[in-house]
Amino acid sequence: MSTSVKLSSQDLIKMEEKHGAHNYHPLPVVLAKGEGVHVWDVEGKHYYDFLSAYSAVNQGHCHPHIIGALKTQAETLTLTSRAFYNDTLGPFEKHVTNYFGFDKVLAMNSGAEAVETAIKVCRKYAYERKGIAEDQAKIIVCDGNFHGRTTTIVSFSNDDNARRSYGPYTPGFIHIPYNDTEALAEALKQDNVAGFLVEPIQGEAGVYVPDEGYLTKVRELCTEAGVLFIADEVQTGIARTGRILACNHEDVKPDILVLGKAISGGVYPVSAILADDEVMGVIQPGQHGSTFGGNPMAAKVAIAALEVVEDEKLAENAEKMGQLFRDEMEKIIAKTDLVTKVRGKGLLNAILINDTEDSSTAWDICMALKENGLIAKPTHGNIIRFAPPLVMNEEQLMECVAIIEKTILEFKK
Ligand SMILES: *Cc1c(COP(=O)(O)O)cnc(C)c1O
Repeated sequence: MSTSVKLSSQDLIKMEEKHGAHNYHPLPVVLAKGEGVHVWDVEGKHYYDFLSAYSAVNQGHCHPHIIGALKTQAETLTLTSRAFYNDTLGPFEKHVTNYFGFDKVLAMNSGAEAVETAIKVCRKYAYERKGIAEDQAKIIVCDGNFHGRTTTIVSFSNDDNARRSYGPYTPGFIHIPYNDTEALAEALKQDNVAGFLVEPIQGEAGVYVPDEGYLTKVRELCTEAGVLFIADEVQTGIARTGRILACNHEDVKPDILVLGKAISGGVYPVSAILADDEVMGVIQPGQHGSTFGGNPMAAKVAIAALEVVEDEKLAENAEKMGQLFRDEMEKIIAKTDLVTKVRGKGLLNAILINDTEDSSTAWDICMALKENGLIAKPTHGNIIRFAPPLVMNEEQLMECVAIIEKTILEFKK
């Protein structure tokens, strides 16, 4: 037996550099433990997590109720495939459809797979129910979108770095500006439009919150045009923005709802689309699937994760803490020229750094925040996203505000 050697953060970073594909550019912090809003690195230094694994860990790290469900199911039955029935999928499907108010759910594993599923269902519905000619269906998408990394999804991304050299690209997408209902109305006049795929708030793009009434108008226009409204709530869903779904802020119901990330509390990869019978009815045996989709571990973990959101009133807490956070950021903005704006909803927020798009200032501030015990990540164009777990209480939030204030006010370019 080899004796275990404790590897340092530097050792582990070098190991990834050498043996792993360089498909991410992580902040140089090596995490080894998490609990609630807290994480610790290999050397034992404590940080507040202000990313929550891109809003997957809304329920906080290693939530005992979710981990309990995982452990119990892991010792009982992990995977049957869908070749057979099992005793967890039905209860999961019933729970999730009741929770979100749809007739049916189709479970997958990653967010990108759920988006792919939505695209497939949308196209199939167009051909088989609306009579659009085969191969002619078009889906409207927004500039600045982020829906994942598959070949079809990057085909309609405008992020050159995410898209370049992965062609030939999948056709059938129309781009319009985000938060522009006139452009949507215009695009809906084109022939063969099957759906409109949109994020209720654009998270990856830098937390762009559309004007109030945007989603209501989108719903109206899609209904009028007989086009499916597909809401990608992979990042905004599961209480992140202060409601269970961001669409609930305007009481709109999409035709297809796409969920991922926090539906499992970040404990296990689970994603899903939800729709009513008329739409989901287009999928028949053999026409879509995944070996792990909706497996017993995923089913039990997702039910537990959704129970935590309800039991701990995480939507209400996100709403309250988010308001407090933005108020406190406004006070910091009044004291410095370095930050120009805070925006967001619930606990999905971002601050805009006063510098050119291509400078490293946001990154450098994140490095300084890390030194001071708070980890966050810049998004495109000198913006820092702040998205802590939703279990954060007021005392913890104020401590974090103090760290951010100290870091910003002491920061020298
Ligand atoms: C993260 C994300 C996805 C992709 O999810 P993966 O699990 O990384 O495939 C899709 N849409 C949105 C809005 C996201 O934030």
